[in-house]
Amino acid sequence: MLDTQKYEAVIGLEVHTQLLTKSKLFCGDSTEFGSLPNTNISPVSLAHPGTLPKMNKKVIEYAIKLGIALHCDIEQNNYFARKNYFYPDLPKGYQVSQHTTPICKNGFVSININSEEKNIKLNRIHIEEDAGKSLHDIDENYTCIDLNRAGVPLLEIVSEPAMHSADEAFAYITEIRKLVRYLGICDGNMEEGSMRCDANVSVRLKGEKKLGTKVEVKNLNSIRNVKKAIEYEISRLIALSENNEEIIQQTRSFDAATGTTFSLRTKEEANDYRYFAEPDLTPFFITNEMLESVKQTIPALPKELEIKYQKEFGLSAYDAKVLCEDKSTSDFFESIVQHTSNYKAAANWLLGPVRSYLNENNIETAGFPLPAKIIAALIGLIEEGKINFGIASTKIFNALLQEPEKEPMQLVTELNLLQESNDDALTLWVDEVINKMPEKVNEYKKGKKTLIGLFAGEVKKLSKGKADMQQVNKLLTEKLNQ
Ligand code: ADP
Ligand code: MG
Repeated sequence: MLDTQKYEAVIGLEVHTQLLTKSKLFCGDSTEFGSLPNTNISPVSLAHPGTLPKMNKKVIEYAIKLGIALHCDIEQNNYFARKNYFYPDLPKGYQVSQHTTPICKNGFVSININSEEKNIKLNRIHIEEDAGKSLHDIDENYTCIDLNRAGVPLLEIVSEPAMHSADEAFAYITEIRKLVRYLGICDGNMEEGSMRCDANVSVRLKGEKKLGTKVEVKNLNSIRNVKKAIEYEISRLIALSENNEEIIQQTRSFDAATGTTFSLRTKEEANDYRYFAEPDLTPFFITNEMLESVKQTIPALPKELEIKYQKEFGLSAYDAKVLCEDKSTSDFFESIVQHTSNYKAAANWLLGPVRSYLNENNIETAGFPLPAKIIAALIGLIEEGKINFGIASTKIFNALLQEPEKEPMQLVTELNLLQESNDDALTLWVDEVINKMPEKVNEYKKGKKTLIGLFAGEVKKLSKGKADMQQVNKLLTEKLNQ
């Protein structure tokens, strides 16, 4: 048995986010995902001699947005550097990156772990260009190269070695994905590779100040795999330490099929990147005006919305958090409450029937077929006592999904589902139930008051769900206590 309690894990993540700009970082080529291979490649992407890069301004804007959202200091004097290495999918033979002047410094990502807020410090966020893709599984004898991705803009978010468990890393990367989606700067889709993560992991004895030797795990294409790879590495490194084996600095790859990692290269084989300032691009200066105008375009972020939903709308912390898990859900919620001030009902609808429908059909909130004002109209009909929630959330809701062009009230009438609140009509049903169950009525009268639920249920059935149950309960109590 290994004594894992003696050790503390230390984790630092490098997250690459591919930006949702239309064109590449230094030329007008499209960044579209899924285009035919090698179709988005002008001579600039191909690094033909004599071509020159030209900076995409949108990239600076997106970097500033992320920096502000993550509480960073924004560097106003920016330079690019060349990071030199040879690889078949890198036509220039170097990658243009920001070496000594990352556009964002310091800052932190707030995560919630075991119901506690924790700020994970960032080291830097910098702009760089992506490389192309080597495709090893298309041809038996050759590796194919697709250069569509070469030159697509990335922001690399580098954390301090400040996380101590796989769960913290999971929460950290989930939070980053949520934020970039809220900001609309990256689609956060790890499976398609538009967000990628390298995990640096080391272990040390608890109380030790010095960092242990780290390993870096690459090829993590889902948040779950980031967690799995870190868990695997922590156990592996602890086992090595316990056996007094030396830990060597390594780059490793994660194999999702087995949930294990294997060595790609050791530090001795590491590249010397021979960084130097990029001579083809002038430095760029971010003015105070630009900073200010970008700030104005940052939408309300999840933290802020969560507070608003609790303080102004009176929702529970749980509801507020779930509504803000992704932007399309909070956007839809915001649209519903444009048409109703019954915030609690709006949240219940969204987290109840709407969510079930989305889960069953495996679609995102953005693809929900009914407009927000229809949900608000249903809430209104319930408030007016025209229908109850049970009928609204099943029969009318389903009918609307079949015939989305119809008005809810029209369907209520057509399907004869108007709520019955009239005492005379309700009394008939109540009497019928009471007469049908003399023994139960006796038990009730002897003190088994919980039977009221059974009687109410029978009335509900008899009315096919249309009875105003508040009224039914009142009538039942009156009759049974006579
Ligand atoms: P490299 O030069 O190998 O890329 P950096 O110092 O730039 O290393 O750090 C890369 C990432 O690794 C950062 O996220 C950093 O927090 C993390 N890191 C650095 N040292 C360690 C360590 N000993 N244990 C865990 N993570 C580390
Ligand atoms: Mg690294």
